[in-house]
Amino acid sequence: MKKLILVLLISFFIIGCGSPQGFPDPSKPTTFGIIADIHADGDYDNLGKILDRFEEKEVDAIIIAGDLSLNEQHSYGRPDKVEDDEEIYMVLKRTLMRGYPTYVIPGNHETKEAWNKAMARLKDDDFLDKIKNYDKLFDMTKIRTLDRKDIDILSLPGCVDEKVTPEDGFIADADELFVLSQRLDDDILLIGHCPPLGSGDHGIDVLESGKHVGSEHLLEVMQDSDIKFAVFGHIHESAGAVDQKDAEVMPRQVTSSLFFNPGASQDGSAGIFYYYKVDGRAKYEEIIVSNK
Ligand SMILES: [Zn+2]
Ligand SMILES: [Zn+2]
Repeated sequence: MKKLILVLLISFFIIGCGSPQGFPDPSKPTTFGIIADIHADGDYDNLGKILDRFEEKEVDAIIIAGDLSLNEQHSYGRPDKVEDDEEIYMVLKRTLMRGYPTYVIPGNHETKEAWNKAMARLKDDDFLDKIKNYDKLFDMTKIRTLDRKDIDILSLPGCVDEKVTPEDGFIADADELFVLSQRLDDDILLIGHCPPLGSGDHGIDVLESGKHVGSEHLLEVMQDSDIKFAVFGHIHESAGAVDQKDAEVMPRQVTSSLFFNPGASQDGSAGIFYYYKVDGRAKYEEIIVSNK
């Protein structure tokens, strides 16, 4: 009898502790499909093609780094063709229908009113409820940190610069990042919209004129918080990636720090971010579905 109890105890211990279920395989990277600057305006063709590519690549989750809506009032001072909350709702519904966990922040084109209206519509959406995909939506204005087993996620909704933000928009508080980062115990992937200040020729904050427009304050807080991995959008023309020292990182180059701008999905550009838990390194890949 004693022997039987011992065998049962040992089996329980092996099954209980040895099960790999829920733990990532360290030899395989975690992959995030990255979208930013969709500015939908009733046109979801590029988004659909990008989501198809994410499916082919079998990504683990999707990140949307702001500017889902166009907000013509903010961009051009004219009334919206399609209401912003409708654009945000449609972008997220189409994404959620693919069934991936989706981490989303607003950029500098979303108002709080439009954002909250879209979130409420998604919560009440019968179809998403039926296919049980609503639960895969992570509104990262509400959930600021995610303590994952592989790489932790931290969000910075909106932009630090009030000048680029509409009335009732999301102003990013960079100082909060340091406090929030202290809650996390693994490497951090920051999801932001407006980038930190760069210095090199290939920065992710460079306008066509060559001017760097990123936030110096955000850069300092990221350094203090030891944030080595981040995705940003906003500067449509400066797709690409740099490391912590602002040196250019090429696609598929594996590196120990990576700040990635996937380019504007509005123009058919997106990306995939790979993180290797085994040695804490990352790489990216460009996804181009059209040259609009
Ligand atoms: Zn944009
Ligand atoms: Zn923007």
